[in-house]
Amino acid sequence: MTTLPDQIRACRLCADRFAASATAHTPRPVVWFQPGARLLIAGQAPGMRVHTTGKPFNDPSGDRLRDWLGLTTDQFYDRSRVAIVPMAFCFPGYDTRGSDLPPPPLCRATWHDRVMKALPDLRFTVVVGGYAHRYHLQARGSVTETVAGWRGFLPQALPLPHPSWRNTAWLKRNPWFETDLLPVLRQRVKETLND
Ligand code: SF4
Repeated sequence: MTTLPDQIRACRLCADRFAASATAHTPRPVVWFQPGARLLIAGQAPGMRVHTTGKPFNDPSGDRLRDWLGLTTDQFYDRSRVAIVPMAFCFPGYDTRGSDLPPPPLCRATWHDRVMKALPDLRFTVVVGGYAHRYHLQARGSVTETVAGWRGFLPQALPLPHPSWRNTAWLKRNPWFETDLLPVLRQRVKETLND
């Protein structure tokens, strides 16, 4: 029987949508989870580099995220313990200004409830960016409002901004993120993987 990860890898539902984008690319689902994982990294969607390499967060955003989490590259990519599930499994393409398009809602509607059911051993979720905040935390405010309310999501989850270079100014404006939130995040990740 085909596994759920293999079914997603074979998905081409957004082929027409991606063909009409500025990049005119074909779907390449980047699937990185298996039953038994304890830590969930819930993200947005692959960028162009991840689309090319087929490995999630294999880019400068990933380097910053691993630093935030306190994980080595080997720990981060250990699928037996860490699941990486974005709101869309494929790169959505660029808009006319060269920014990434939003994750297609069709992906969430088609796959996400099934993926979550396939991960019954999750103990902690790191929720990265506004799209994931809305799905996993039912957050309705801005990214800043949701992340500023981080204590209210413990011990099950913590919301983060996207680790993209585009958010470097946000990090400077919100120094509490590094001084208050990150030490707690690293502790929860360590507890989740070691207990
Ligand atoms: S983004 Fe999701 S729904 Fe669309 S083709 Fe990729 S896997 Fe399928």
